[in-house]
Amino acid sequence: MAAASKVWLVGAGPGDPELLTVKAQRLLREADVVVYDRLVSQAILGLIPRGVQLIYAGKACGNHSMAQEDINRMLVRLAQSRSRRIVRLKGGDPYIFGRGSEEARALQRAGIPFEVVPGITAAQGAAASAGIPLTHRGMARRFQLITGHFQQNQPWSVQEAALADKQQTLVFYMALGQLESIRAALLRAGRAPDTPVALVEQATLPNQRVLQTTISEMVDAARRAEVEPPALVMVGETVRLARELGGRQQKMREEQARV
Ligand code: SAH
Repeated sequence: MAAASKVWLVGAGPGDPELLTVKAQRLLREADVVVYDRLVSQAILGLIPRGVQLIYAGKACGNHSMAQEDINRMLVRLAQSRSRRIVRLKGGDPYIFGRGSEEARALQRAGIPFEVVPGITAAQGAAASAGIPLTHRGMARRFQLITGHFQQNQPWSVQEAALADKQQTLVFYMALGQLESIRAALLRAGRAPDTPVALVEQATLPNQRVLQTTISEMVDAARRAEVEPPALVMVGETVRLARELGGRQQKMREEQARV
């Protein structure tokens, strides 16, 4: 009997193809099928050899082209129909807001062997490419990754106490639709209105934009600059370091983004 199928849940990183892990690159070369997300960049899809079956399973926020349950079922079916090597390629890290763990549970329940390959999450990519360290001695002793997207129309909320510590970098994912709620929560948590905020669009990609603003200004600034997904909202003192650490090209983009 042929060996059973196996599914690899692989993180593709934030977009720059050079930020793929060595393992991810090898698996992409050796795959029979790659099931990929909307967030996987064209540059990365370009690395997949011809002849590999490519299946798009993307979701656009608010416009789900494929329900999560359908993706779970599809992965199980692909693995059961015949023996093959299936790569489920997801933006960033599969276990950070990627619903990779839901896919893992579905595979586990169906008795299909799987393995998770971590990827660089968007916050780490943006930290490096925008020059906003997640921790910095004396400035940020911790960081928090927070989702701006809640299940099925539930209003966004977060425990305000969790936002209060000034010595932390907050990184909001999927947050563009919730900027007003986030600003209100930050202010209620006692954060100063002039606390620096960066919106980082298309982090690590050639068209990355960094918009520097403040808590009080962030909603209007994002609207004026027409910030679009994928983007992160980074809040905290380390955002100030972007001017020093962001690099020359970065600064030019920043000038363009500032309005
Ligand atoms: N698993 C992914 C996150 C998936 S949720 C990870 O670990 O990065 C999707 C959200 O990730 C987007 O709405 C956006 O907030 C963020 N994101 C992903 N790639 C990004 C990028 N290149 N630049 C900015 N934000 C990004």
